[in-house]
Amino acid sequence: MSVPSARIVAHFDMDSFYASAETKRNPSLRDEPVVIGADPKDGKGRGVVVSCNYPARKFGLRSAMPISEAWRLCPQAVYLRPDFEYYESLSSQVMQIIRARVRDFEQVSIDEAFVDLRSIATTMGEAEAWVARLKDDLRTETGLTCSVGLAENKSAAKIATDLHKPDGITVIGPGMTKEFLAPLPIGVIPGVGVKTEMLLKEIGITKVGDIQKLEVDLVKKRLGGSGLWIWDVANGLENEPVKEHELKSFSTERTLEEDSKDWVVIEGIVSELAAELGDRVRSAHIVFRKVGIKVRFRGFETHTREARLATYSNDKDAILREARSLLRTFQDKKLPVRLVGLRVSEVKREATDQTSISVWIDGLVD
Ligand SMILES: [Mg+2]
Repeated sequence: MSVPSARIVAHFDMDSFYASAETKRNPSLRDEPVVIGADPKDGKGRGVVVSCNYPARKFGLRSAMPISEAWRLCPQAVYLRPDFEYYESLSSQVMQIIRARVRDFEQVSIDEAFVDLRSIATTMGEAEAWVARLKDDLRTETGLTCSVGLAENKSAAKIATDLHKPDGITVIGPGMTKEFLAPLPIGVIPGVGVKTEMLLKEIGITKVGDIQKLEVDLVKKRLGGSGLWIWDVANGLENEPVKEHELKSFSTERTLEEDSKDWVVIEGIVSELAAELGDRVRSAHIVFRKVGIKVRFRGFETHTREARLATYSNDKDAILREARSLLRTFQDKKLPVRLVGLRVSEVKREATDQTSISVWIDGLVD
């Protein structure tokens, strides 16, 4: 009889992803402090830092810091507005490289993913070697680095990732999760925010190890529904599966520089949006069944319409064709158009994913 092997979960987190993406297309930024966020307007700008690179962090800059404060600390940094379309296309490239090599994959944000390595490695050593190879290949193929945490469950792997950034691998050996977590502040537990931290501090709980010493019922009483989750994570007992979420849709939209009633101009924009969406669909290796349009008129009156195709498609011409015919249904409107958007939905992964999985992990999965 075979004994089920212990889990080995890897958490991947791209290093200062947006800033690295900007450096990729403009290598002269490599050693400069780079800040992605709101327009600083010589220190008078509103809004926040969305992301910054490691040279900027040396000046004390952090994500979510007001952009005016970033300017005060480091006016010489290169300040850029975020280009989410570009980041998303780079993200799909990265995720596709990881996804193609594993059976159990879960993307959790634009630059983070979990992988269950049970089908690939039987020891942490093997897992670490596999992760190191993948990190090298990611760097060669995309020019980007990431940090990885390896542990017996998702929460410990995620917490571990932050310990050696950038470009690090942190391994929590089998049976070591509780010991690893004990000295860390409770704020490292996913889901523990400022409010929970305060509630726990009031009863003298500051370290994960303090939670480990408590009865689960006391934690539940103090924190309500999330208490059980926090207690499980603290004790290394969290056991959530690594599972791909269902894809819902891909969309893009554009606000016109000036409101317009010129349908030639509007159709031109729709063509650009269709081409962009087509590229993203291709790079994400998905197929779609529905194409939708959103048209917002002056005064914020907004309409959406969609069409369902006879079969799944990944064809940008199909997006354009459907989008144009949907757009035509608005042309007798008297108001000028302020914004147009396109969306593909009912999406799923291209079937070819399965082939690439068996090619990559040749022999390890039947
Ligand atoms: Mg990251």
